[in-house]
Amino acid sequence: MEAAFQEVERLNRLMSHYRPDSEVSQITQNAGKKKVRVSPETLEVIERALYFSRLSEGAFDITIGPVFRLWNFREGKVPGEPVLKENLARVDYRKIKIDRASSAVGLEDPRMELDLGAIAKGYAVDRACEVLKGRGIGNFLVNAGGDLKVGGEKGKGFPWTIGIQHPRLPSQFISKLRPKDSAVATSGDYEKFFLKDGERYHHILVPSTGMPSRESQSVTILAPSAMDADALATAVFVLGPKKGFALIEKMTGVHAIIVDRRGSVLLSPNWPAGVLLPP
Ligand code: ADP
Ligand code: MG
Repeated sequence: MEAAFQEVERLNRLMSHYRPDSEVSQITQNAGKKKVRVSPETLEVIERALYFSRLSEGAFDITIGPVFRLWNFREGKVPGEPVLKENLARVDYRKIKIDRASSAVGLEDPRMELDLGAIAKGYAVDRACEVLKGRGIGNFLVNAGGDLKVGGEKGKGFPWTIGIQHPRLPSQFISKLRPKDSAVATSGDYEKFFLKDGERYHHILVPSTGMPSRESQSVTILAPSAMDADALATAVFVLGPKKGFALIEKMTGVHAIIVDRRGSVLLSPNWPAGVLLPP
């Protein structure tokens, strides 16, 4: 367990945008100037993020930072139109430039910022699991605040069981899952949010408007990798059920539970047998 935590801390040092010395912060500090050479891990996460940006046609965008920072969920203030508009011009994943041969990443516009907040936590979970497996541990559950992965079973003959929290009734589950050696990630509008004039403002933003997505209340993704589950939970949340399920169907081994804006629980088709338990 200690080695697994150390691995998470190592990745945090590479990818946290809150640490000025991280590789991700170095990319931001050199925006508009030059590409920065990064580790294979950071490159892998950024390339995967770009893959999901293209697949979601921009609903997922790791250059959301300048707009995300305008939101203060503790004080509960909605940013004004002009400042929002000004900063939206700084958000565009197509302006991330990668040179694979030299493992270097750059931002085309000097005012751009990189924020891996919607994908790096999942990657860290995957890596922590690999550390455990590498030390001969086959039965584990690694949970990073809603992004989790399980291996083996909880006890002899007892499978891991994951409850998906109801987005409006915290003590209730909308369903229970029994994943087998796979990842489960949930993005919801009920963790980081404030209410103002009857509206809920939360931390999953539509990159084209800078406003919280109104398409869903929560999205849970079951996938082989926690990195994919993490990113897809955010992307599908922004897209909503129609486009979200269409995206899910393009992936193999990926399944989704969407609680839509009205609170209806919707399941993607073809769930594997035995994974989805009745509530
Ligand atoms: P959580 O971190 O609560 O599990 P997410 O995985 O959905 O939730 O990540 C939310 C974080 O991702 C935000 O804090 C912000 O940094 C970033 N973010 C918000 N909206 C988007 C978006 N549309 N695309 C990519 N990243 C986003
Ligand atoms: Mg996510």
